[in-house]
Amino acid sequence: MTAPASPLRVMGIGAHPDDLELTCAGTLAKYRSLGNHVTMCHIAGGDRGATSGTRAEVARIRRAEAGSAAALIGADYINLGVSDGEVDASNEHQKLLVTEAIRTARPDVIITHSAGDYMEDHNQASALAFTASFLATLPLYESDSPPLDAVPALFYMDTMAGLGFQPTEFVDITEQLDTKREMMRLHSSQLVWLEQHDEMDVLGQISTIAAYRGLQSGVRFAEAFAPCSAHLRTRTTRLLP
Ligand SMILES: [Zn+2]
Repeated sequence: MTAPASPLRVMGIGAHPDDLELTCAGTLAKYRSLGNHVTMCHIAGGDRGATSGTRAEVARIRRAEAGSAAALIGADYINLGVSDGEVDASNEHQKLLVTEAIRTARPDVIITHSAGDYMEDHNQASALAFTASFLATLPLYESDSPPLDAVPALFYMDTMAGLGFQPTEFVDITEQLDTKREMMRLHSSQLVWLEQHDEMDVLGQISTIAAYRGLQSGVRFAEAFAPCSAHLRTRTTRLLP
């Protein structure tokens, strides 16, 4: 496959603040280093990802953390503020929110969760990205911004811990791994929460998964993806960096 000629507009759509950082941030950083435009969008506010504090306060902290992580690579950041545990692909208001976010970012390529991940918000975010990226092209689906000219290509990113995911495409992130870890480190509230709630060492997990996907693809560190191969989503050029 040949590489596309002009800079791409790329959009990551994750469920919670830190999901893109955990899963595809190396690829987003690589896109940026190659001169492409990147928007990071989290659908939920992260408001239930803490053991204490008000939900509004937790959401405020997490939005700021995600904004800092996006800024580290020069990406735009959008948070749609849906409550944790309530991401719902059948909800018309959420479809409209995600459609407007996509029309704002105007992506050629969207990266989102795989179906079958460990947390239902992730699966619903995946379905919302699929549905809304089609709706975004319909002139009579009204939102504040004009419709897209074409249905964006869509890639599904690794699941949490890589479980149940069969990748077919890989991105070498050897040069971006430190940046990816730094983006996650900026979610300082989550380093504590994930350790307490899930006994999860996220920075260790990032390195372990990157090494495992690297082993599978012949490089030191990699991220794994599978393309959406539905009608209007396929391309003749390689879109991943
Ligand atoms: Zn999540």
